[in-house]
Amino acid sequence: MKKFLSLALAAAMALSLAACGGSSSAPADSTEAGSSDKTFIIATDTTFAPFEFTDENGDFVGIDVDILAAVAKDQGFDYELQSLGFDAAVAALESGQCDGTIAGMSITDERKEKYNFSEAYYDSYVCVAVKEDSDIKGFEDLKGKTVAAKTGTMGANCAEAYKDKYGYEITYFDASDMMYQDVATGNSVACFEDQPVMAYNVAQGNGLKIVADAKEEFSTPYGFAVLKGSNDDLLKMFNDGLANIKADGTYDEIVAKYTGSK
Ligand code: GLN
Repeated sequence: MKKFLSLALAAAMALSLAACGGSSSAPADSTEAGSSDKTFIIATDTTFAPFEFTDENGDFVGIDVDILAAVAKDQGFDYELQSLGFDAAVAALESGQCDGTIAGMSITDERKEKYNFSEAYYDSYVCVAVKEDSDIKGFEDLKGKTVAAKTGTMGANCAEAYKDKYGYEITYFDASDMMYQDVATGNSVACFEDQPVMAYNVAQGNGLKIVADAKEEFSTPYGFAVLKGSNDDLLKMFNDGLANIKADGTYDEIVAKYTGSK
């Protein structure tokens, strides 16, 4: 929406220039006159604790949020973080509406065809969680039941891959908290989610428990992503900054702040 507004402004400026007899097409960047530094638009998820979430003070926080801030500070670039939801953030990346995405985004071969990823910054794999008092102990118990998955995620890929083998139906959600809620209320008997995220939310008391995982087949680390063919400079800055914050201990401090370990 912000981007749309700035484009509208650029168009308005171009029109007013044209009215003075100037060229009719002003570059979109002309709205940034006065500063040669670009403000990168970075898209992220809405609720994916401990990577991005809103804390009790109403602040948008998390490992991704802090890593991005530390990297930007180290490399000296400006950015605007937009919390869109995972699927929407990836769509924004694909359509060029944002410059980069940091959203606990798994580095997969399929995604590498469209996006360039940074060095991996966190290991993850898909797990299955059920309601705390559920009798379900693993994939075999999902037969004939409905499970929840989050649109466009590795968890959804995993749920789809095992669907026929274990004979369950899948309901899709756009946000992780909606998915947990569906399991807590009993509409879905289980959900597929990244293990570090599920473990964090279980520890926070979301009423679920982890009963199985797909570590063998669905283990993928997280990376910062840009669209192939654009923002190579941003990706390089991210990688350079990540190396620096790993070397000086900032990265470890960020992870420890949210998980109490590493
Ligand atoms: N790691 C998962 C993926 O990339 C989920 C990310 C998320 O839900 N924010 O598909």
